[in-house]
Amino acid sequence: MAFLSRLINTSRLSRVLLIRILLFSGLFTVIITAVQLSLNYQKETEELQTISQQLAETNAPSLARALWELNATKANDIGIYLMRIGLFKSITIKNENGDTMVFLGEKDIEAHQTSIKLQFEYSGRTGTVGTFEYQIVTDIVKRKIKDDFIIILISQFIKTFFVSIFILFIIHKLVIRHLNEISNWLNNFKPESSFSPLALEADKGSSNEMVKLKSAISEMGQQVHKHSTGLEKVVAERTAELEKLAYTDSLTGVTNRGAFLQAANEELNRSRRLSYDVGVMMLDLDHFKAINDTYGHDAGDKVLKQVSQAMANCLRKEDTLGRIGGEEFAVITPGADKRGMHKLASRLQQAIAILNFSFLPDNKNITVSIGYTKVSNDEDFKAALKRADEHLYTAKASGRNTFITDKGFLPRIVS
Ligand code: GH3
Ligand code: MG
Ligand code: MG
Repeated sequence: MAFLSRLINTSRLSRVLLIRILLFSGLFTVIITAVQLSLNYQKETEELQTISQQLAETNAPSLARALWELNATKANDIGIYLMRIGLFKSITIKNENGDTMVFLGEKDIEAHQTSIKLQFEYSGRTGTVGTFEYQIVTDIVKRKIKDDFIIILISQFIKTFFVSIFILFIIHKLVIRHLNEISNWLNNFKPESSFSPLALEADKGSSNEMVKLKSAISEMGQQVHKHSTGLEKVVAERTAELEKLAYTDSLTGVTNRGAFLQAANEELNRSRRLSYDVGVMMLDLDHFKAINDTYGHDAGDKVLKQVSQAMANCLRKEDTLGRIGGEEFAVITPGADKRGMHKLASRLQQAIAILNFSFLPDNKNITVSIGYTKVSNDEDFKAALKRADEHLYTAKASGRNTFITDKGFLPRIVS
């Protein structure tokens, strides 16, 4: 019973199944029993009719004699005797004129009444001396049928109830238990987290449809898990690649203009929080158009790549190099001071000047003009960049291959 209440409380399917079985079986039992008992009722009523008829016919000659002899007492005694047998509901004995001589029992106006002619033979002649009318008792049969009906219903209900529980037990063991396991497993299944198979321990040795379904689901889950984790890795790799593509210049591999400006603003914010200086440097290759025009665009590209590489090698890892135009580059230098910036400009100029290109004549090399400055506390990055650009313009104007900065930002050795 504990098993039953647990099943009914936890499994909706079991509950529905039990109720449906009981309802259907109950309805079926009522119909079958009703048909069977109504047939029984007919049969038993007929039997009662036959017995009462035999009784009536057996006693008819004595009754006829009593009427012939006008002996009402005797007719009454016979009537009482017949009533005592318990089969008759009412008995009426009438004489040949139709006058009631004897009436016993209770008349049921709805019940069928049988009538027998009472004949008496006298001196070789037979004559009708009266009639014997009777109704039989059907109440007994009805009561008996009703009792049978109740007994059959109760016994059928008990039988069905236990059979249903047995069926439920089997269905639970074969189906519902597995369904619960599958749904719990699916509820906890997360394709991206670690995979644990749908437990098949308890199913070892059996291979019915449910067990096959479970192992198929588990197998599918494993495939989904594999696929999902593989996909995650690919997505992470692709995202990293795309991010890199979005932030870097495809030709030179250094930070592109957008990412450079963003990095500059971030650096500036950090420097203000932590109170350190930030320097900014603008670089533009000298007469670069002539390289393109003389040696071709590919040669120009090669120069841009190698110059970028050479510049990157001169920087510390906290510096940021960006390509902000065709042959224009910029550098952010956190922690900049006059001396450091001066040295860096010189080093960059040097590093570019010593680059060798097969297409360039021996006496020719690539030069760069540089303008640099320090970002003041009260200006934004763009303002500082503009100032560096102005210094770059001055460097160009003063013959190129040189670097210029604010007067106040020159180190003591130079100034
Ligand atoms: P200046 O000394 O005054 O800077 O002279 P310049 O010739 O370097 O300046 P200008 O701005 O006239 O020329 C820049 C040239 O850079 C023009 C353009 O064709 C070239 N350029 C821009 N982007 C690229 C690129 O990605 N590859 C190549 N090969 N050339 C480029
Ligand atoms: Mg330029
Ligand atoms: Mg140039």
